[in-house]
Amino acid sequence: MCIFCKILAKEIPAEFLFENGDIVAFKDKYPKAKTHILIVPKKHIETIKDLKEDEEDEILVGKMFLVARDIAKGLKLDGYQTLFNVGRAGGQEVMHIHLHLMSHQ
Ligand code: 5GP
Ligand code: ZN
Repeated sequence: MCIFCKILAKEIPAEFLFENGDIVAFKDKYPKAKTHILIVPKKHIETIKDLKEDEEDEILVGKMFLVARDIAKGLKLDGYQTLFNVGRAGGQEVMHIHLHLMSHQ
């Protein structure tokens, strides 16, 4: 099981900010900004390259951005960055897709 699947299974602790039927969000353990949150689908997909061209995955990725937007709004962040690292060569270390939400606020 990958490290994020272990966090999802509550086998490894994390500071959760959001959970619904298909997405969770928790604080990054090694933050690179004042606010650094990871939005993670419950479905294990290794990289953005592995997304299927179907409605399920299209909707899932869209929902990830809306969760990021809603968390940022809840934290009253005026501005922020959202980022997917894609593949080892793209700086991805955890092979379970996740959207970084980062802000210096
Ligand atoms: P990537 O480089 O794959 O895009 O980002 C992985 C992120 O996961 C990194 O920012 C890293 O700090 C974070 N991370 C790695 N291991 C853990 C962990 O066990 N718990 C949490 N909360 N974050 C982690
Ligand atoms: Zn996983």
